[in-house]
Amino acid sequence: MTAVHGDCRYFLATDVAKGQCLRNQIPVGWDEPACPDGQPAAKCKFCGNFSHDRCTAVDGGFWAYADMRADNCPDYRPEDPAG
Ligand code: SF4
Repeated sequence: MTAVHGDCRYFLATDVAKGQCLRNQIPVGWDEPACPDGQPAAKCKFCGNFSHDRCTAVDGGFWAYADMRADNCPDYRPEDPAG
């Protein structure tokens, strides 16, 4: 489960604040509380290679931002939400 719609894999942004839920077919706000169907999107902040605003998947690392989508990243390593 995710905390907000904006972190959910079913969220499709339509502007900087709002979007559409592709699962439930309803308009939702980015920072509004997620529903029980929410699943984490592939984002740097949910990746085991992300630490202190850096991607550590390569030698030396590089700056990355937490909300960057990682759908096409070959090094994306989703963290277990249960810890
Ligand atoms: S309504 Fe639920 S399934 Fe849809 S985007 Fe929000 S959290 Fe995800």
